[in-house]
Amino acid sequence: MITIISHSMVLINNINYIQMDISIIGTGYVGLVNGTCIAYHGNKVTCIDIDKKKIENLNCGIIPIYEPNLDVMISNAISKNNLSFSSNYEDIEDSDIVFIAVGTPQDEDGSADLKYVLAAAKELAKHIKDNCIVVVKSTVPVGTCHLVKQCITNELASLGRHIQFHIASNPEFLKEGSAIDDCLYADRIVIGTEDVHTQLELRELYRPWSFKNTKLQILSTDIKSSEMIKYTSNAMLATRISFINEIANLCEKVGANIEDVSKGVGMDSRIGDKFLKPGCGYGGSCFPKDVKALIKIGEEHGEQMYILNSVEEVNYFQKRLMFRKLWNHFNGNLNKKTIAILGLAFKPNTDDMREATSLVLIDMLLQEGCNVKVYDPIAMKRCKEILGDKVQYCEGVYQCILGADATLLVTEWDEFKNIPLSDIKRYMNGNVLIDGRNVYDKDKAIGCGLVYDSIGR
Ligand code: NAD
Repeated sequence: MITIISHSMVLINNINYIQMDISIIGTGYVGLVNGTCIAYHGNKVTCIDIDKKKIENLNCGIIPIYEPNLDVMISNAISKNNLSFSSNYEDIEDSDIVFIAVGTPQDEDGSADLKYVLAAAKELAKHIKDNCIVVVKSTVPVGTCHLVKQCITNELASLGRHIQFHIASNPEFLKEGSAIDDCLYADRIVIGTEDVHTQLELRELYRPWSFKNTKLQILSTDIKSSEMIKYTSNAMLATRISFINEIANLCEKVGANIEDVSKGVGMDSRIGDKFLKPGCGYGGSCFPKDVKALIKIGEEHGEQMYILNSVEEVNYFQKRLMFRKLWNHFNGNLNKKTIAILGLAFKPNTDDMREATSLVLIDMLLQEGCNVKVYDPIAMKRCKEILGDKVQYCEGVYQCILGADATLLVTEWDEFKNIPLSDIKRYMNGNVLIDGRNVYDKDKAIGCGLVYDSIGR
């Protein structure tokens, strides 16, 4: 028999569905975006974070991350009384479902550090109600849900709390920069559970998603397969990036054009055209750490991950490729050269700089004694927190390239795509433009008198 754990039915856009009381532990990219989207579908959501300043800010309307449309969605949800923020775990006491969406950063040995997940599990055990479903949304190695279950069980026993709870895995696939759309219009939702009841409750929570998104597929699995799907997806995408980057580097040597090669390869419906764009390496908070974590999981189980080790190695060199190109242009004489960096975030439409290629490049340029000028439409504040006064922060593209001996385009923001190439040449002192994302037309750049280099063409 299925128990419905709802409080009430709600009618939204003429569709009736069950309103649930949901808590999300961890109010970062994943927690905040999911909390907002779950509230958008009419549920009562409390986002919990131990970072009191973050919660204080959110309660004053200050959004801690940049994500298109997130601010509007949050204020709409708050105005309907569907979304609140707290740093107090007591506020999860009425929740039907509690999501764990805290960070799982890379540990020193490359494995996923589970200390935040386990701390959240221990703390939530003090407050969850009977029959609550605890869902692990953070990206975690196979077996973690089992550990979380054990941790909650132990904590309940030590507190003398005699309640039932259910565990589930529900990995997140959103991309920073398009997180709201990815969450509301996901390709698939994966739900790993140990029992049918929990599976059905989570399907009920996600039911409104399919009203707006007819392409949505919901996949029910066991918990370990669900945990594995997340790592495998990220590792597959990282593999495609490193693969096409390796081919791009070969294209340069043999005189082929990677843009045409990618297009031709992607036309094969067995391959598809996604993630075949060459560039200066992948970064961000997920691919680097998740590839490393999967390699580590392999090691722990006596399985050498040959392909993934190569994926990492290719990416290591790709992140340094623009520096090598620059070094060659100046015959190794980079000391005192002024270098303009366009784009700091690890990709456009986000201010996230975790594992960004820009940081690797800037570090190498500073070591060579360069004067580094930087500009990013959104990530300047984040960059200042990381680099302090080591670089010169500019207010716009033109200020950044003014007087530069070379310009490196690292992140493909739309703003950069529209700068006339003749302006780049005019504002710079030198004429070297290295385009790490192939956004400019090569012939036009050369026609403007620029010494232009890009990836694989
Ligand atoms: P984040 O670092 O942006 O946010 C994590 C939040 O958890 C922080 O605000 C932190 O203060 C809070 N926190 C830590 N310990 C806590 C505790 N005990 N109780 C309450 N709050 C606590 O992380 P994120 O980018 O949102 O990632 C979260 C998880 O989702 C990670 O496992 C990540 O790999 C995964 N993921 C991230 C993305 C992405 O694009 N960022 C996409 C898919 C999956």
